[in-house]
Amino acid sequence: MSLDFNSLFRDDTLDSACPECNSSISFKLSDIGSVIVCPNCKVEIKLNADDGFNESIDSLDSSLSDLENILAKLDK
Ligand SMILES: [Zn+2]
Repeated sequence: MSLDFNSLFRDDTLDSACPECNSSISFKLSDIGSVIVCPNCKVEIKLNADDGFNESIDSLDSSLSDLENILAKLDK
Protein backbone atom coordinates (compact mmCIF):
# COMPACT_ATOMS: atom_id res chain seq x y z
CA MET A 1 0.00 0.00 0.00
CA SER A 2 1.11 3.49 -0.73
CA LEU A 3 0.75 6.42 1.61
CA ASP A 4 0.01 9.68 -0.08
CA PHE A 5 -2.36 12.56 0.31
CA ASN A 6 -4.75 11.50 -2.41
CA SER A 7 -5.19 7.92 -1.30
CA LEU A 8 -5.72 8.98 2.32
CA PHE A 9 -7.83 12.09 2.05
CA ARG A 10 -9.29 12.53 -1.40
CA ASP A 11 -12.69 11.22 -0.34
CA ASP A 12 -12.86 13.34 2.78
CA THR A 13 -15.80 15.68 2.61
CA LEU A 14 -15.59 19.34 3.49
CA ASP A 15 -18.46 21.68 4.17
CA SER A 16 -18.65 25.22 3.00
CA ALA A 17 -21.28 27.83 2.25
CA CYS A 18 -22.31 29.04 -1.18
CA PRO A 19 -21.12 32.62 -1.76
CA GLU A 20 -24.35 33.38 -3.62
CA CYS A 21 -27.19 31.84 -1.62
CA ASN A 22 -25.33 30.86 1.55
CA SER A 23 -26.70 27.35 1.54
CA SER A 24 -24.35 24.68 2.75
CA ILE A 25 -22.34 22.81 0.17
CA SER A 26 -20.18 19.79 0.70
CA PHE A 27 -17.33 18.91 -1.57
CA LYS A 28 -14.47 16.49 -1.57
CA LEU A 29 -10.83 17.39 -1.19
CA SER A 30 -10.31 15.92 -4.63
CA ASP A 31 -12.62 18.64 -5.99
CA ILE A 32 -10.19 21.38 -4.98
CA GLY A 33 -8.84 23.01 -8.10
CA SER A 34 -11.99 22.30 -10.05
CA VAL A 35 -15.43 23.89 -10.31
CA ILE A 36 -18.43 22.68 -8.34
CA VAL A 37 -22.04 23.70 -8.80
CA CYS A 38 -24.20 24.82 -5.90
CA PRO A 39 -27.08 22.33 -5.59
CA ASN A 40 -29.41 25.14 -4.56
CA CYS A 41 -28.82 28.11 -6.88
CA LYS A 42 -26.67 26.33 -9.50
CA VAL A 43 -23.95 28.95 -9.37
CA GLU A 44 -20.52 27.66 -10.34
CA ILE A 45 -17.96 27.90 -7.57
CA LYS A 46 -14.30 27.62 -8.38
CA LEU A 47 -12.38 25.85 -5.66
CA ASN A 48 -8.98 27.41 -6.00
CA ALA A 49 -6.01 25.55 -4.71
CA ASP A 50 -3.57 28.27 -3.77
CA ASP A 51 0.18 27.80 -3.65
CA GLY A 52 0.13 27.32 0.11
CA PHE A 53 -2.31 24.46 -0.25
CA ASN A 54 -0.20 22.74 -2.89
CA GLU A 55 2.96 23.21 -0.84
CA SER A 56 1.23 21.73 2.19
CA ILE A 57 0.28 18.67 0.19
CA ASP A 58 3.80 18.32 -1.16
CA SER A 59 5.32 18.46 2.30
CA LEU A 60 2.68 16.11 3.66
CA ASP A 61 3.40 13.68 0.85
CA SER A 62 7.11 13.67 1.64
CA SER A 63 6.38 13.13 5.35
CA LEU A 64 4.11 10.25 4.45
CA SER A 65 6.74 8.65 2.27
CA ASP A 66 9.26 8.95 5.13
CA LEU A 67 6.74 7.25 7.37
CA GLU A 68 6.17 4.59 4.76
CA ASN A 69 9.93 3.86 4.71
CA ILE A 70 10.01 3.55 8.49
CA LEU A 71 7.04 1.20 8.47
CA ALA A 72 8.62 -0.90 5.74
CA LYS A 73 11.72 -1.37 7.88
CA LEU A 74 9.65 -2.34 10.91
CA ASP A 75 7.89 -4.92 8.81
CA LYS A 76 11.01 -6.99 8.33
ZN1 LIG B 1 -25.94 28.73 -4.03
